[in-house]
Amino acid sequence: MKLNKLPLEFQKARIILEKIRNAGFEAYFVGGGVRDTLLGLPLHDVDIATSAYPAEIKRIFRKTVDTGIAHGTVTILDHGEGYEVTTFRTESTYQDYRRPDSVQFVRSLKDDLKRRDLTINALALSLDGEVIDLFGGLEDLKNGLIKAVGNPNERYHEDALRMMRTVRFASQLDFEIEEATLNAVAENAHLLEKIAVERINVEWTKLLLGKNPKKGIAGFLETKLFVYCPLFNTMEQVLKTMLSLAQLHFKNDVAAWTLVCYLALDDDHKQISRLLKSWKCSNELIVDVQSSFSALNLFRANQISAWNLYTIGLPAFETAASVASMLGFSRDIAVIQSRYEALPIKNKKELAINGGNLIKDLQFTPGSFLGKTLAIIEKKVVCGELRNELGSLEAAAVKIKNN
Ligand code: ATP
Ligand code: MG
Repeated sequence: MKLNKLPLEFQKARIILEKIRNAGFEAYFVGGGVRDTLLGLPLHDVDIATSAYPAEIKRIFRKTVDTGIAHGTVTILDHGEGYEVTTFRTESTYQDYRRPDSVQFVRSLKDDLKRRDLTINALALSLDGEVIDLFGGLEDLKNGLIKAVGNPNERYHEDALRMMRTVRFASQLDFEIEEATLNAVAENAHLLEKIAVERINVEWTKLLLGKNPKKGIAGFLETKLFVYCPLFNTMEQVLKTMLSLAQLHFKNDVAAWTLVCYLALDDDHKQISRLLKSWKCSNELIVDVQSSFSALNLFRANQISAWNLYTIGLPAFETAASVASMLGFSRDIAVIQSRYEALPIKNKKELAINGGNLIKDLQFTPGSFLGKTLAIIEKKVVCGELRNELGSLEAAAVKIKNN
């Protein structure tokens, strides 16, 4: 198969491939970029594979960075762009189910493509648009099939992360998983325990955010991969519930985790934090999921006060609204947005009074009583019980002090 036109991202890298070729070596575009080009999707990676060894690449190009030299990856800097060029390689035996014991640089494209995970990820594209398809990847792309390169059992045994990638791509591309491939995932699922949680998390998140998350979740469930994920061994019912929802589509990771937590846990910040920490999620994500979960419960109860809007914040309600609609209790987010916009203040800094005013004008002493007074005033302002101007707030403070 031959493409008439390369996407712009590849055209920009043309000079790199030409230089490598002019020096007497082979060079191709490989990996996700080729797959996505053939699917008509936007590209987010330009990966180049070459028969030149790293030292040879460094002789051809003046500006390079050794970004992954042990695996044969050198980044070539060209007019402010960086291009990752990786020497064709094979991988030796895998003793720990996750890393090859060593990599071997080779001159043959075929050997390089053979070590890749899925047929649709094992295509190469030459500068003149020729697609090199040695493992039936084009046919699988056409048929929407996720299939391991070579013997699936061996491939998952070599690197257990590939099992998560398999279910992730089913979701991301809305593809079916080929039968022998799916069976091999089921057979080797327990090896996922050997994989670092951070790497599992990356794939799980991409799965949730994919085009058809139900397809990925179905594979994740059916093969029992979930059993080997942190604190997920009791999640069977949660995953089944997710599959049963009429609509399942997430705008971001906060929304996805909010739904998972909502189905699995109580609205308890500690429980949420424990689950997400076990998945090595960032603290920022944990806080955002906690807020969205609270907002979601308020949506369900249909009792959202100005104070709730102020303390939880609009983004959490927007995320929660998207999750609420999947759960079938959607509420009008436009109403929430306009109520939020109408809040007298959006944060404490906008309060017309501060500790300094209380000390200077009203002879408060620094300490916890002053803090409490400010907190009472803040809440009253947010709830519209006090006007946000110094005079009325000082009068309120005096009242609190004399009480
Ligand atoms: P994405 O769109 O998420 O970047 P990708 O297919 O480009 O998807 P990368 O992780 O960027 O995924 O990897 C680039 C290529 O390297 C893949 O297309 C595949 O050929 C190969 N690859 C990546 N991870 C593995 C793995 N664990 N085992 C075998 N081959 C892999
Ligand atoms: Mg990629």
